[in-house]
Amino acid sequence: MNEPTAAGADLEAPAPLDLPTGGTVAAWTERYGNALMNTFGRPRRVLVRGEGPYVWDADGVRYLDLLGGIAVNTLGHAHPTLTAAICAQLGTLGHVSNFFATPVQVSFAERLLEISGASAVPGSRVFFANSGTEANEAALKMARRTGRPRVLALEGAFHGRTMGALALTHKAAYREPFEPLPGGVEFVPFGDAAALEAAMGDDVAGLVLEVVQGEAGVRPLPPGYLAHARRLTQEHGALLVLDEVQTGVGRTGAWFAHQHPELGGGVRPDVMTLAKGLAGGFPVGAVVAFGERAAGLLGTGQHGTTFGGNPVAAAAGLATIGVIERDGLLERVRDVSERLAGALRRLPAVREVRAAGLLVAIELNGPVSTAVAEVALEAGYVVNPVTPTALRLAPPLILTWEQVSGLVDVLAGLPADLVAGEVAS
Ligand SMILES: *Cc1c(COP(=O)(O)O)cnc(C)c1O
Repeated sequence: MNEPTAAGADLEAPAPLDLPTGGTVAAWTERYGNALMNTFGRPRRVLVRGEGPYVWDADGVRYLDLLGGIAVNTLGHAHPTLTAAICAQLGTLGHVSNFFATPVQVSFAERLLEISGASAVPGSRVFFANSGTEANEAALKMARRTGRPRVLALEGAFHGRTMGALALTHKAAYREPFEPLPGGVEFVPFGDAAALEAAMGDDVAGLVLEVVQGEAGVRPLPPGYLAHARRLTQEHGALLVLDEVQTGVGRTGAWFAHQHPELGGGVRPDVMTLAKGLAGGFPVGAVVAFGERAAGLLGTGQHGTTFGGNPVAAAAGLATIGVIERDGLLERVRDVSERLAGALRRLPAVREVRAAGLLVAIELNGPVSTAVAEVALEAGYVVNPVTPTALRLAPPLILTWEQVSGLVDVLAGLPADLVAGEVAS
């Protein structure tokens, strides 16, 4: 009988293919413009390498990555445990399709059920996808399967860019060029409990919420709103779907934002969608269905995916969860968040700080976020102007206070017009 070769045995071997090297940021930016669609606009820099919370551009300049690939690089860049897990799995069994199962896929699902608390609800199950938008797409199909016509989402919501997820996304500029979108979705004003109550009924299939609206500028639901939403959905038999694509997997200092005492207070959803940080940078998405009713909505043959549950993605997810636990990162997130928010709040350039663990919005005194982000980038800090007036930070959870404190110094030294929030004329 043939024994399989040791996983990852060839890790030290030199890469046999020619990865592109050399070339300046300017040269690669030019080539980017001639090779890629312009959906994302001009890239801020061309990056060639990362280590821990740092990245380097093609000109050799180092940056502290406080965006983390938009809340994705949970363990920073080139984390040895994550890298080893991915390489070992890829060197053993890289893909099988969903006609087959793998131990890593099963174990990953079991871990998700465990840390989400879903394993305490009999019948809970996981569906794997490859991105946030796909996870939400699956959740919307689950809602349809209730047989009820209406789905409620919130003003300001972002749930993704495929047609179904886009139907749940509120922003007109994202939606309007692609209408007609799948119907039945209604938007209710953000955080308005009375409006939600008025919209709710026995014909509602589901209510889709972000515990903290990420793309809208890190806006947490008001205290008590989620509990109210849970009561209403329960009363009317509607699904409570929490989109934790951006807030899940440790980002807020709890495994999931809805478990955080100040954000969700332990409300239990029927469906939770995940992606972004779930596998530390490897593409993955997941739907966790709490209990038998939710888990049974998509029957055999009613949904599917070629890549979903891919063993390499599953290995990356298991490693990410494993390191968060092993290294006590949830506690680190809470600690760094508190110190950072405290320091930022003392700055004259900062009007308000909204911090949900290491998902942070820095509200400035006016519509200068793009200009301030540029100053920060020039100083070696990657931050994201998430709204005209706010910067977003979603750094790796391995970040230390010592590393991030330099950003506070940069913001303390901003020129007077940016401190005042005035756009230079
Ligand atoms: C990013 C995001 C999505 C979409 O995820 P993709 O992986 O980009 O498709 C959906 N919901 C929320 C809350 C997000 O932040």
